Amino acid sequence: MASIFTKIINGDILCHKILEDDRYLAFLDINPIRPGHTLAITKREIDYIFDLEDNLLSGLMLFSKEVGIAIKKATRCQRVGVVVAGYEVPHTHVHLIPTNGMSDFSFALAQQADQAELTVMVTKIQEHL
Ligand code: 5GP
Repeated sequence: MASIFTKIINGDILCHKILEDDRYLAFLDINPIRPGHTLAITKREIDYIFDLEDNLLSGLMLFSKEVGIAIKKATRCQRVGVVVAGYEVPHTHVHLIPTNGMSDFSFALAQQADQAELTVMVTKIQEHL
């Protein structure tokens, strides 16, 4: 069965898309732990990040860098945290999280996002791409 992220890639589930190319997609997390929390994913559905071939893995990091630089400017955070977990969705994704300290990394802070706020945030981040 297709992962929820493959359904997003195929347009079967809507997302707040930030950036896309032929291999990767970045969109806002629906349960952000901080405003601007973004997921950068591979379009190929591979569960575990270190199963990616080197070229696809290094490309994911460069794609995440491009998006992360824009997130930092848009949110004016100190650092964009980079986390890979994958315990909920078995489809490689990098969490890009605007942070101002270690306490901002808690996934216990995740809250369902307000759709209107996500729409505003997408535009703010895209202005810095
Ligand atoms: P992980 O697999 O790394 O534990 O986390 C998966 C992340 O995907 C979670 O932060 C969760 O909020 C996010 N997520 C799960 N389903 C959807 C969805 O349908 N849309 C979006 N935008 N994010 C999702």
